[in-house]
Amino acid sequence: MLWEIFQMNRIERAKSDAIDAKQAARDALCDTRELQTKVRNLEQQCERLNLALMALAEILRDKLGITEEQIEEKLEEIDLRDGQLDGKYRPVPEPSRCPACARPNAPNRKSCLYCGTQISVRSNLFPEPPA
Ligand SMILES: [Zn+2]
Repeated sequence: MLWEIFQMNRIERAKSDAIDAKQAARDALCDTRELQTKVRNLEQQCERLNLALMALAEILRDKLGITEEQIEEKLEEIDLRDGQLDGKYRPVPEPSRCPACARPNAPNRKSCLYCGTQISVRSNLFPEPPA
């Protein structure tokens, strides 16, 4: 009798585990489909950006005589701004200095954490050219 109760319990637990596993598999499938859609959208964006870059490069060449080599040189210069020639530009955000109290603040702060003075937010896309 005790053995039967024990076995029934094990069967119920196994059924419950199977239901949980089915749900987990369904969730994983949904996540996969969502990721596939995101990848597809990113691929389309890359293709669109590639087209835009080709158009810009051709306009620069045709209207201003800027060569592909000059563009490559500039690419390399910008790539190196984050300290690594790796085909990526990932600037390391530096802390902002408060113009009033000179204390360091997180780069995304619009006002000083310590005194409340407004801090100008720097653009990483268009950094100050090197002096
Ligand atoms: Zn301050």
